[in-house]
Order: sequence, then structure tokens, then C-alpha cells
Amino acid sequence: MTEYGKPVPVADADSAPFWEGCTRGQLLLQRCADCGAIRFPAAGICPHCRATGAEWITASGRARVYSWIVVTHPVPREIYADDVPYVVALVELEEGVRMATNIVGCDAGEVRADMEVEVTFDEVAPDVVLPRFRPRGG
Ligand code: ZN
Repeated sequence: MTEYGKPVPVADADSAPFWEGCTRGQLLLQRCADCGAIRFPAAGICPHCRATGAEWITASGRARVYSWIVVTHPVPREIYADDVPYVVALVELEEGVRMATNIVGCDAGEVRADMEVEVTFDEVAPDVVLPRFRPRGG
């Protein structure tokens, strides 16, 4: 926990480049050096061809809402009471992988399936930047 007061991601060896990219305003994805498949979340071994080599590419930041929920009951209450309602979504990036995130920049009730969204970077604490998505062009 940080002074942000909420749980934050903890980078590991595989995901560290992703989180470092977020601090620079870049959405990075790991691409298999062998078969070219995008690995998200980042992993040491490609789930498609089992190769270990990889490179990092910058994603377009464009996505569509695949699925979502509107959180109205804060759990735990002492941490999220001021945030509800908020949207937890699975978005499908143009690069073909799905990412769990929040939809921001619109009312929770406005989120729709297949809605076009784009990444926005939220610095929630020093060196902690979360990729969230907002309506595209909004
Ligand atoms: Zn591969």
C-alpha cells in the first residue's frame, strides 16, 4: 500500500517493462520473438509456441469494451466507498488481447458492449501509473 491508500500492482520480472512503460505514457505489449503472438499478461514462455524470446511493442492504445461490471457496493468499504459507482471492464485491444481495467471519463451507465475506448494513464501514486480506458474521442 502507498499513500494512495488502495492496492497497487506489484511488478515482477515479466511485467516490469509493462509498468515502466505506463510511467512514460506508453502501453507496451510483449510479442513472441518466434511466432509473433502477443503475450498478455507478459510471461516467460509463449503459450502458443513455448518459445522464451520476446520483444516489447507499443500498443495503439485503442480498444473496444468486451465486458464490464458496474461496482456499486465498495469492498472493502473503507477503501472504495468514495469511488462507487465505478466500472471494471475487460477491453479487447486492437492487438487482439484482452486487458482488465477501469472505464473512466463517462458515467458508469453509459458503458456499452463494443464501445470504442482509448488508453489514458492515471498516476495514482509516485511511480504508480495505471492504464485505464475512456471513450474514444471523448
Ligand atoms: Zn510464440
